[in-house]
Amino acid sequence: MSKLELTALNCTNCGASVTGYEGKNEVTCDYCGTLIKIIRPKEVKIRNQNLSQENQDKLNNHIEILQKAMRAGNYKEGYDYCNKALEVDPSIGALWENKAICSFWKQISLFDDDKISLTDAKEITTYLNASKENDPDSETYADAADSIGYNLGLITKLKFDVNIKPDKKEGEVPTYSEGMLKRARKYHELMELSFHIMKNKDTQFLEFVVLDLSNQNDIQWLNLDKNNAVAQEVPDAIGYDAKKKREILINVIKKHNAEYVPPKIKIAKQKGVAEMFKWILGSFAVGSIIGVAIFQGSDGVFIVGPGSAIIGFLIFQNVVKNQKHYVYFE
Ligand SMILES: [Zn+2]
Repeated sequence: MSKLELTALNCTNCGASVTGYEGKNEVTCDYCGTLIKIIRPKEVKIRNQNLSQENQDKLNNHIEILQKAMRAGNYKEGYDYCNKALEVDPSIGALWENKAICSFWKQISLFDDDKISLTDAKEITTYLNASKENDPDSETYADAADSIGYNLGLITKLKFDVNIKPDKKEGEVPTYSEGMLKRARKYHELMELSFHIMKNKDTQFLEFVVLDLSNQNDIQWLNLDKNNAVAQEVPDAIGYDAKKKREILINVIKKHNAEYVPPKIKIAKQKGVAEMFKWILGSFAVGSIIGVAIFQGSDGVFIVGPGSAIIGFLIFQNVVKNQKHYVYFE
């Protein structure tokens, strides 16, 4: 077994202890079925010939502790020892990558707060960039970037699924507050960031964002304007041009996946006025015919006819109120 194999691994989604990951790149959690890409500590090699013997010993000592801590999932300690080692030699890319990994886990909070979206995961990108700058030929960079990027996308999507819910009502209809829409935007941006971090691009999280921006989940980001053209639906205060963003992301995905077919934009519409008017006339006519058929020749025809029409209309109105139909746009 590799000396950098993890000694413990917890599921990114449910926190359960995962087994059978040794030597694998990814593993599926037995409890919740989430596919996890395994992030192992990166092997640190000392190449700087100019270090004094004392500094070399110090560095070796720090590296040993940080790797041991990371293998056991003690990312706080790992982070601290990355810093100590970087003080001795900041030119080793793998040290920056390990620091980015520790920073990722330190900011991930499985159930409670949302540290990672509050900080925009800035630390992680800063440390990965430091690896590129200080050690452009780092052999471990791609693997670190891919596994951090994927897991960042994964955890953000999970947080989106759990946290983004209608949190106010317009009349009887549940809908989203500005705060909730901003939070959704933030998760979108983090998924985009996760894509940018990856060296070998996996488009699945961008595809999720496009699906969401196409109104295919629950938020109606887009709607039709008075000229029946697709336009922004959410308030400008959200600071998000959903239509433009959707187009940009579709182009990015297509660059990496020529087969990609973007989802259509799904727009909910109430029945139009003309259609409702037809219904009123229809129910009136049917009601009158029934009235005439039953009370032919009696005076009741004048009361029952319009009466049935009104009842027909009330039933219809109730059906229509809760019924939307959908139209689809490219
Ligand atoms: Zn799990």
